[in-house]
Amino acid sequence: MLTRRKFVEVGVSAIAAATLQQGSAFAGERRGSPTNLAPAAFTPLPLGQIRPAGWLRRQLRIQADGLSGHLDEFWPDVGPQSGWLGGPGESWERGPYFVDGLLPLAWLLDDQRLKAKTMRFIDWTLNHQAPNGMIGPNGNDDWWPRMVMVKALAQYHDATADSRVLPFLTRYFHYQLTALPTRPLRDWGKYRWQDEVLVVEWLYDRTGDVSLLRLADLLERQGYDWIAGFANFKHTGVTTRASLNAASVPSDESERMETHGVNNGQALKTAAVRYRLSGDDAIERANFKRQIAAIDRFHGMPNGMFSCDEHLAGLDPSHGTELCTIVETLYSLEITLATFGDAFIADRIEKIAFNALPGAFDDAMWAHQYDQQANQILVGLNSKPWTTNGPESNLYGLEPNFGCCTANFHQGWPKFTSSLWARSPDGGLVASLYAPCEIETTVGDHNISLSVDTEYPFKQDIRIVLSSETAVRFPLRLRIPGWTNTATVSVNGQPAPIDVKPETFALIDRLWAPGDVVVLHFSMAPSVSRWYHNSLALMRGPLVFSLDPGQSWVKLRDRGLTADWQVYPQKFWNYALLVDERSAAQVEVVEGTLGSKPFASVTDSVKLRLRARRIDAWRSEDGVVAPVPKGLQTSSLPEEILELIPYGAAKLRITAFPQLQPEDS
Ligand SMILES: [Zn+2]
Repeated sequence: MLTRRKFVEVGVSAIAAATLQQGSAFAGERRGSPTNLAPAAFTPLPLGQIRPAGWLRRQLRIQADGLSGHLDEFWPDVGPQSGWLGGPGESWERGPYFVDGLLPLAWLLDDQRLKAKTMRFIDWTLNHQAPNGMIGPNGNDDWWPRMVMVKALAQYHDATADSRVLPFLTRYFHYQLTALPTRPLRDWGKYRWQDEVLVVEWLYDRTGDVSLLRLADLLERQGYDWIAGFANFKHTGVTTRASLNAASVPSDESERMETHGVNNGQALKTAAVRYRLSGDDAIERANFKRQIAAIDRFHGMPNGMFSCDEHLAGLDPSHGTELCTIVETLYSLEITLATFGDAFIADRIEKIAFNALPGAFDDAMWAHQYDQQANQILVGLNSKPWTTNGPESNLYGLEPNFGCCTANFHQGWPKFTSSLWARSPDGGLVASLYAPCEIETTVGDHNISLSVDTEYPFKQDIRIVLSSETAVRFPLRLRIPGWTNTATVSVNGQPAPIDVKPETFALIDRLWAPGDVVVLHFSMAPSVSRWYHNSLALMRGPLVFSLDPGQSWVKLRDRGLTADWQVYPQKFWNYALLVDERSAAQVEVVEGTLGSKPFASVTDSVKLRLRARRIDAWRSEDGVVAPVPKGLQTSSLPEEILELIPYGAAKLRITAFPQLQPEDS
């Protein structure tokens, strides 16, 4: 098995002789160094101005009471011996990964215990800057883990305004500007440069230091050109171990990195980051759309993600998706949404956050998967179907396959929460994503608060109540999802006199009075989408629905405060559904009660009931669901009524189904 660390060693030798990458010529190439930054469509609210409420608060509390709040107590890689605490332990990406998620979790929950855990890493880092400006443990000088730590420090400054942060980052970036010409980006850093440029831009927004623009330019020029790669996208099939092994000569290192799932998730922010440097709005929007369209076309999954186990793996829903890629894709899309202000990006964020993200965890968030599958009927020690990952990849556990996700998953829910609302350049507020929350912020000179009361995405209504000391005028933009066919917006019980169109932001610009109530209703008719072999997946609103074939959890081994688990199905899973695009809206919806754990495997939140028959010939092999049978299916087995539950609740699942031959054809 090629572990990630081994992979890095290979990468180091491969790129040791690398020279600065020459940008390839194609439409959209930026010319010359930037002299300023173009404005983003929306400005995120500082960390702490949005607080989770309702089910989202419960979800973050589950995370805090699970692995996130306890990992450092028993997992050495982020424990007291961490290199990022001055110890002799892990000194690479795991400490920064942990802080990048634990920090927003701690501040969103205002949890003093978690803040104290976070501050050990923050204080050590801020207090141990070298005289030349270098940061981090002495054990390595890799730029990559530092790219993660500076992301965490930007959030820390947003939350606290700690006066140490801006000078610290300025010294580090000045040092990097002098060091990069002779010690250029390599391996991970070369493919993830856009994450650092994001923070360089963040710092420029606060200091106006023009040398930062030169650094952003240098990072881009040394980094891999994702935009050119997607202008001529070559990785259209399943990456195989054989092809990567054959490509392991230094000149072909690019294939390993270009097909790497996490790299691709992080790369989805490239166009947004470049837009701020170039101001080429239309070009960079097109670059982003081309990138995500290529990933979807060749590797798209019904859960909103793309396959990567751990390299791009094609369209079969039996292939897996790494958890790091899920949280990194979410973060990239959150940045891209704020930069371009496109409602379709918000739809995609919700699809991933409400499906793929919870789908990777057990109910209590004490165990996670490395790779999850959209069609996943057995979690066990199988060597298949992964492109390069090992046999433990879909276990629910502490560090199945590899520990990167163990350190990195923490950012998923907190950064989603931080991205729910934003500020618009005209002094207004934007509801980008929907989940229950409380907002305390300012518009003009006025303090206002907003309470968003909803069980969305499980229910169709969202109620927003405004509080302020006096009436205050400001524009309020409300995202209308692209999937809704009927959306209504009312203010104090009266229909708002505004244009309400799917996949746009509806604008209400009025004098808001204390106690004003906005109610959004998004009708959520079930719908069908098509996937591998023309298979069907069911959605209702942003939720994807799956068949749960029952679960028997068998402990494989204890892992300190947690354990590794195998999971076996209890019932048949091989059904074809009697539904298509025309009949989907008539599928029966059963709304129930949202429990204390929103994505618990035993759930009454919302279900779809529809007719189906078993297809006896559709089987699994070595625990892997065979490809979905092509074409309309017939079956002599009796018709049954299946209940589908939210994808994130189905810890075993079938999501992509064959279609049953309609009765009238
Ligand atoms: Zn990972």
